[in-house]
Amino acid sequence: MSYLVDSHCHLESLSLEGKAAKSIDEIIERARRCGVSHFLSVACTSKEFEKNLSIAQKYNNIFLACGIHPLNLEEEPDWSDEELKKNLLSSDKVIAVGETGLDYHYAPETKNLQISSFVRHIGVALEVKKPIVIHAREAKNDTLSILKSENARDAGGVIHCFTDSVDMARVCLDLGFYISFTGIATFKPSDNVREVVKYVPLDRMMVETDCPYLAPVPVRGIENEPAFVRYTLKYLADFKGVSEKELARITSENFENLYKLKLSDYETPPKGCEISSYKIENIIDRSFS
Ligand SMILES: [Zn+2]
Ligand SMILES: [Zn+2]
Repeated sequence: MSYLVDSHCHLESLSLEGKAAKSIDEIIERARRCGVSHFLSVACTSKEFEKNLSIAQKYNNIFLACGIHPLNLEEEPDWSDEELKKNLLSSDKVIAVGETGLDYHYAPETKNLQISSFVRHIGVALEVKKPIVIHAREAKNDTLSILKSENARDAGGVIHCFTDSVDMARVCLDLGFYISFTGIATFKPSDNVREVVKYVPLDRMMVETDCPYLAPVPVRGIENEPAFVRYTLKYLADFKGVSEKELARITSENFENLYKLKLSDYETPPKGCEISSYKIENIIDRSFS
């Protein structure tokens, strides 16, 4: 029996409405046929959290994270620790705080706001005892110094969509954090990310789509969705010299260790869903042609 988790996706942000709408059922089914057994859907605002919560109600294999993204802070200037805590404790499906963190690439002008929000999220995570999903873009020094000064290692967590340096990865690993890779690792110009892939030990690695963004090669350019985590898995497995099945097993175990749960308690993959038996191109070509 193999498990594979898309450890960071935004299900509520997929094209669920309008002309080219897909249904969640269809998205989850396609993912399962590609071997993806579980999902962590991450909310960036409280509105998104509500949407995710209603999506997740129907499925045992969708987990949730709740936080205010550093790039959404201006939409929710008055978010309160109390409301965040309430959301985090509203369902046992909510297993993580985030995403939170710092993004100086897209919004250097809100730096101070981002810092105070990040610090508050860590405080809440320590209180509710849930790991943190961290977004860090071009903010290495501040991210690391806040993780240290706020004792974030006691909550634990993952640096998602890692695009920084080996240097930063080393400190994050020393602090006990996991490192998660998206389709960016498959992009031609991403030699720096591949350096980090080379460096990070298998037992601290995760794989994610961050869909609807960042579809991996060879589906780059269309809307990303959880099924495509298979492409990134394959790419990373080849790069690390292990089988896809082995990397799926290890990254699923890493997910279980970080979030202190057993995937099999939530859903067992449907019969015949062995990673090795999939012909992902067939499934995906058929669905998108
Ligand atoms: Zn992010
Ligand atoms: Zn994200």
